[in-house]
Amino acid sequence: MTDQQAPVYETDQPVLYAVADGVARITLNRPAFGNAQNGQMTYAIDDAFRRAAADDAAGAIILAGAGKHFCGGHDIGTPGRDVTVSAPGERRFLWPDHAGKPGAEQAYAREQEIYLEMCRRWRSLPKPVVAAVQGACIAGGLMLAWVCDLIVASEDAFFSDPVLRMGVPGVEYFAHAFEMHPRVAREFLFLGDRMPAERAYQLGMVNRVVPREGLAAEVDMIAARLAALPRFGVALAKQAFNLTEDLGGKRGAMEAVFGLHHLAHAHNSLTVGHGNGGLDAKAMAAQARG
Ligand code: ZN
Repeated sequence: MTDQQAPVYETDQPVLYAVADGVARITLNRPAFGNAQNGQMTYAIDDAFRRAAADDAAGAIILAGAGKHFCGGHDIGTPGRDVTVSAPGERRFLWPDHAGKPGAEQAYAREQEIYLEMCRRWRSLPKPVVAAVQGACIAGGLMLAWVCDLIVASEDAFFSDPVLRMGVPGVEYFAHAFEMHPRVAREFLFLGDRMPAERAYQLGMVNRVVPREGLAAEVDMIAARLAALPRFGVALAKQAFNLTEDLGGKRGAMEAVFGLHHLAHAHNSLTVGHGNGGLDAKAMAAQARG
C-alpha cells in the first residue's frame, strides 16, 4: 500500500499512565481525533498494560479515554495514520516488520501483531481491568472495551461496528457473538447501527450505565474494590473466565475469523485497490448517514 504520506504525530503521549490508591489508570490520549488508534497509540497501550501488570502498587486497572469519546476506532485518516511505516517501538511479535512487504503480507503481519496478538495479551493480563466508556466506542474501540473485565458506560455512550460497509466482516478481534447473543450480534454487524449504552446494558455487554459526570467516580469506586481483592485469587478468577470462554470456542473462532478478515482485505485490494474497500473516515460517515 502506498496510500499515505509519512505520519505526523500530534503528540508523543498518545496514552497516559498514572497509579493512585492501588489502581493504575491508562488513558487514551488523542482526544482531537476521538482517540483513534494508530500504531503509535497501540504500542503505547501495550507498554502501559505491561507496566501495570508488573507494578505491585497496582491491583486493578482502569482503561479510559480523554475527551468526548472513548475510542472512535482504528485510525483510518488522521495525520498520524501510520499503517505503512515500521512500528514506532520494538515489535512484540516475531514476524518480520510489516513495512514494505508486498501483497497481503503487510496487512496480515501488522494486524496479527497489533490487533489480534495484543488484544489477546491484554485480555490475559492477570489483573482486573475496568473500561470507562463515554461517547463513541466504534469498531477498534470495541476491541479495547471487550478485552476488559468490566465495562462501565456513561448514558451518552454508544457502540458500533460499521466495518461491513468496507466489505470487511467485523473488526479483527471477532468477539461479537460472545459479547452479545448471536442473533443480536448479527444485527449489530450487518446493519452497523449505533447501539446505545442502555441497550448494551440490557444485553449484558455493559455492567453499569451512569450519568456522564458520574462515570469517573463510579469506575474509581469499582476499581478500588477490585484492587482490594487477594491478588492471586483474582488473577485465577480472571483466568477461569478466560479459559471457560476459550473452551467454549472463543479463541479458536477468533483465530479462524481472522483469516476471513484478511481474505476480505485481500479481496478489496484486488477488486478496488484498497484493503478497506476504498473507504476512509469521511466516506464511512457519509455511508452511515445513508
Ligand atoms: Zn483489518
